Amino acid sequence: MGGPLQVCPECRNRSLHRKRQVPSGVTVPGNVGGWFELLPGLGTTFRYPTFDVIVCAQCGLTRFYADADACGRLSEAPDWELLSDAGPASG
Ligand SMILES: [Zn+2]
Repeated sequence: MGGPLQVCPECRNRSLHRKRQVPSGVTVPGNVGGWFELLPGLGTTFRYPTFDVIVCAQCGLTRFYADADACGRLSEAPDWELLSDAGPASG
């Protein structure tokens, strides 16, 4: 990861903290179970994608970076709209 990640884009502070490989989803087993996922369609049958999470200790701005595998699946994931293909009047 390069230099820009080391400075908060909100307050320009350098008190940034990172946690790697935070799960992007959770499965709750049982009769009332279910699941919750923030990157639907970008994981595998066995694994949710992970985030690297960066929090600014000064202002609290929190950034989530999807892992490389998840990013690699975006182009083949129909639910994930490529914004640069959208016209300026849409959305
Ligand atoms: Zn900040």
